[in-house]
Amino acid sequence: ALTVQALSHAFGPREVLQEIALQLPAGHTLALVGPSGSGKSTLLHLCAGLLTVRAGRVDNGFARTAMLFQQPHLLPWKTVLDNIALGLKARGLRAPQRLAQARAMGEAMGLDALALAQFPGQLSGGMQSRAALARALVLQPDLLLLDEPFSALDIGLREQMHQLLLAEQARRQLAVLMITHDLTEAVALADSVLVLAGSPARICWRLDLALPALQRDDDW
Ligand code: ATP
Ligand code: MG
Repeated sequence: ALTVQALSHAFGPREVLQEIALQLPAGHTLALVGPSGSGKSTLLHLCAGLLTVRAGRVDNGFARTAMLFQQPHLLPWKTVLDNIALGLKARGLRAPQRLAQARAMGEAMGLDALALAQFPGQLSGGMQSRAALARALVLQPDLLLLDEPFSALDIGLREQMHQLLLAEQARRQLAVLMITHDLTEAVALADSVLVLAGSPARICWRLDLALPALQRDDDW
């Protein structure tokens, strides 16, 4: 599990987060919502180890963490296949194995051989998002941190990405901590929603979407 306790963070004199507490067990999804500038990305960066925790605790009990940013951040001079295979080098896998795993994950994300052979700039935005998701999932992370990676996609593409993510979660225990401004996305993916507000920001609401009171309308 990921456990955050009494986590506060300041940039210089500017206090951004105050006394944040959350718990994310394996296989669960937490959605984080709040106004722009409320510290959502800062909280994700602290969980990812990209920022140093100075007050409070972050215990990331998961062995492998992957993160997706708002932009796909694919390396433009490498093919899509090589982009997906990138992180596997650090796993000590040999090139043929890396490429085979990357190809299988790319195909699972709906990228065909032609798309995998292209450079990121030759792909549509939706395909770039698939490639970024493939690059994260090929590492078989236990914890996936999502900083609004689907927000630039149209509704249809966004729902395709949700299905890919849910399929991965159905296959194996994957914990997801996601930032979103999209309530539909939160309801589709998350077990609970944390609402950040105030300055410095605190968690002011915790909504449990697993409660039987909230059900999807059958006619929707
Ligand atoms: P958005 O929804 O716009 O992405 P956010 O909730 O993710 O906003 P953060 O990016 O976490 O907000 O920023 C929270 C506050 O911390 C902002 O006031 C921002 O200016 C400030 N901040 C973020 N990163 C830094 C940094 N590296 N140095 C100084 N201030 C920072
Ligand atoms: Mg942000």
